[in-house]
Amino acid sequence: MSKKPSTVSMRDEILEEERRYLFPSVNHMYDDPIVMEEGKGVWVRDHDGREYLDFFSGILTTSLGHCHPRVEERVTAQMKRLGHTSTLYANAPQAEAAHLLADIAPGDLSQTFYTNSGTEAIETAIALAYVATGRREIVALRLAYHGRSSLATSVAGHSGWRPLAATHPGITHALSPYPYRCPFKSPCDDSCVDKFAQDLEEVILTTTNGQPAAFIAETIQGVGGYVVPPPGYFQRAAEIIRKHGGLFICDEVQTGFGRTGKWFGIEHWDVVPDIMVMAKGIAAGFPVGATITRPEIAAVWKGKTISTFGGNPISMAAHIAALEVMAEENAPQNAKDRGRELVAGMEALAGEHPWIGEVRGKGLILAMELVEDPATKKHSPQRAKALLEAAKVEGLLLGLSGLFDNVVRVAPSLLVTADESQEALDRLGRACALVSRETP
Ligand code: PMP
Repeated sequence: MSKKPSTVSMRDEILEEERRYLFPSVNHMYDDPIVMEEGKGVWVRDHDGREYLDFFSGILTTSLGHCHPRVEERVTAQMKRLGHTSTLYANAPQAEAAHLLADIAPGDLSQTFYTNSGTEAIETAIALAYVATGRREIVALRLAYHGRSSLATSVAGHSGWRPLAATHPGITHALSPYPYRCPFKSPCDDSCVDKFAQDLEEVILTTTNGQPAAFIAETIQGVGGYVVPPPGYFQRAAEIIRKHGGLFICDEVQTGFGRTGKWFGIEHWDVVPDIMVMAKGIAAGFPVGATITRPEIAAVWKGKTISTFGGNPISMAAHIAALEVMAEENAPQNAKDRGRELVAGMEALAGEHPWIGEVRGKGLILAMELVEDPATKKHSPQRAKALLEAAKVEGLLLGLSGLFDNVVRVAPSLLVTADESQEALDRLGRACALVSRETP
C-alpha cells in the first residue's frame, strides 16, 4: 500500500510527524521542544530562526562545534571515493584512525574494535572481559550509566535508566564516590577514599563469587550528575579489582578526547585501564564507538564477531579529522582554560544564588547541582527545570542530569572561545536571576 509522501516543512508539522511516526519514548527536552535546523561552531539555529549558544553539544558529541570545515571536507572527500566496506575488507581510514587513537591512548592500550555507539562499545568491553577472564560477574558503580542495551541498562545504577529491570544477572554496584553527598564525612576528605575503596572490596567479597570479570566505571559519572570521584579513588579501585583477578574497564564516552583538560579523564588519576571505551566526541558528531585494549587481551577473543558498520570509512574520516583538529588546536588545553573561566563565573553565580549547591567538573564537563537549601542539600529538580527553560529563553542550551534531575550540565565544544564562554556566562547569569525572582 503506498503512503502519501510526507510534506514536512513547518516546525509544528515536524513535531506532529515525529509524534505519529516515532516511538513516544523518543523524548525531547523543554516544554516546547526545539526543532534544530542549522549549526556552526557553538551556535545553532532553530526552525523559527532563533539562535542559541549550544553549551550541551548534542550530549558532549559535537566536540569541535557544529559542521567543522575539516570534518565536512574529509567526510565529503571520502563519500566520493568509498562509502562502505564492512569489516570483511580492510580500509585505509580505519587503519589510520586506529593508529592515531593508539598514539594518544594511555599506557599500552593499542588495539581497537570499532562500532557505532557508546552502548555497542560497552557491550564489546564487557564481552571482552568475560572472554579474557573466563568469569561472568561485573561490579559497577551506583549512579552509573553505560548505554541503552539490555546488558548496559543492567549495569546502570540509576532506576530511571533501568527500564528492563536488570535482565542480566551477575552485576552488582558499589557506592558512587560522590564527594558532595559523601555518606562518610562532610566535607569529604582523603579518609573517605579508603571507605569508598573498602565498600568496593566488600561488594566484591559479599555480592559476587569473589571472582569478578571486571570493575566498570565512568571517570566522571555523566548521567549521574557529573560526579567527580576524589583524588586517589581510581588508583585504589584498580588495585582492588586487579587483586581479585578482574579487569578495570574505563568508560570515557563522555570524558574522552580532551573534554576534561587531558586526552582522557582517567589520566587525572594516573591509572592505565585494561579496557577503555569511547564514543560521543570521538568523531565530532559521527556515529563511532571504540573499545581499546592491550594486544594480549584483544588476542583472547577468538570467536566470530562482526560489526557491519564498525570502522565505516565515512565515520572513520570524521574520526581522523576530529583527532587531527583536536591535536592541532590543543583542544585539551583549551578545555582546561575555558573550563577555569566558566567555573569562576559559575562560582560567582553560586555566591549570589544559594540554591546553587555546588559547582564541579573538570575542563569542559561542568555542572551546577541545584538544591532547595545548601544546608539540607535537598535536591531541587524544579529549579533545575526552571533554569533550563530560563536559559533557553536567553538563547543558551544546557543539559540536565542526576538521579533526581537536579544537576545542570555545561559542556560546550572543546574549541569554544573566551568570548563565547563569557557570552554564555552572561546569559546564564540572567537565567539564574530569573529563577531567583520566580522561585526565591
Ligand atoms: N557511556 C556513557 C558514560 C554515556 O554517557 C553514554 C551515553 N549517554 C553511553 C555510554 C552510551 O552511549 P550511546 O548513547 O552512544 O549508546
